[in-house]
Amino acid sequence: MTKIIAFANQKGGVGKTTTTINIATALAAVHKKVLLIDMDPQGNATTGLGLYGRDRKKGTYDLLLSNITLDQLTIQTKIPGLDLVIASPDLAGAEVELVSVLGREFQLQYALKKSGSKYDYILMDCPPSLGFLTLNALVAASDVIIPLQCEFYALEGLAQLINTIKRIQSRLNPSLNLFGIALTMYDKRNALCDQVAEDVKQHFKDYVFETMIPRNVKISEAPSHGTPVLIYDVMSSGSLAYMRLTKEILKKNGGWQNVSVVNS
Ligand code: ADP
Ligand code: MG
Repeated sequence: MTKIIAFANQKGGVGKTTTTINIATALAAVHKKVLLIDMDPQGNATTGLGLYGRDRKKGTYDLLLSNITLDQLTIQTKIPGLDLVIASPDLAGAEVELVSVLGREFQLQYALKKSGSKYDYILMDCPPSLGFLTLNALVAASDVIIPLQCEFYALEGLAQLINTIKRIQSRLNPSLNLFGIALTMYDKRNALCDQVAEDVKQHFKDYVFETMIPRNVKISEAPSHGTPVLIYDVMSSGSLAYMRLTKEILKKNGGWQNVSVVNS
């Protein structure tokens, strides 16, 4: 069965896009069939994979607001096994256009039900808001992963996000599962970082992935090369952490046995 994971946090700059493209890459590396859907009009996942939305006309917008099927919208990335639906420029208008659409929360769910089943994983990189784009992702998803930056204000926004997830579970998508919270940009020299990580773990216990993604300069360099850090510098601390995180995801999802190239 296809695992459909939304990477969501209404805060910007917390590592959603970085986490989505690197987990997608690591899953493809262990021979999973993966689709990444760029739900953010900023299109950072699209450019981060070396593709440019402005050069192409069709993408996530069409998945949400036209009758074009998923098969017609997916493009192959340079990473074998990883397909992408790009954020084309018109995605910026989707938030407003969806307002007047009947069943607006279910557009993506409907599109994926029709033809998403050939993938093992569909990952959705959400924008930094809780508008209709994120709502569509959370309604279509089987699971949600929350990337959380180790910083002082992290917990404040988290409560609001958890409430939104609960509301979606009770009204729109009862099977939505909080898969886990991934702590990002962890800096062991920063005492506040440790404190935040401790607080989150105390509060959310097993929901917090053991692997914390360190702050790593290679991660921040990779997007300008149009490639995930896992390809840009596979031995960097960032890459190794994303491999460990992916291993945890596979283990939690019963895919442990198939992992051969990911070692901790
Ligand atoms: P979001 O999608 O939540 O807005 P991004 O993944 O785009 O966040 O990350 C925001 C910025 O921080 C980007 O420039 C990215 O390259 C950088 N970044 C993300 N994770 C790390 C990390 N672990 N170490 C260093 N820089 C990071
Ligand atoms: Mg982003």
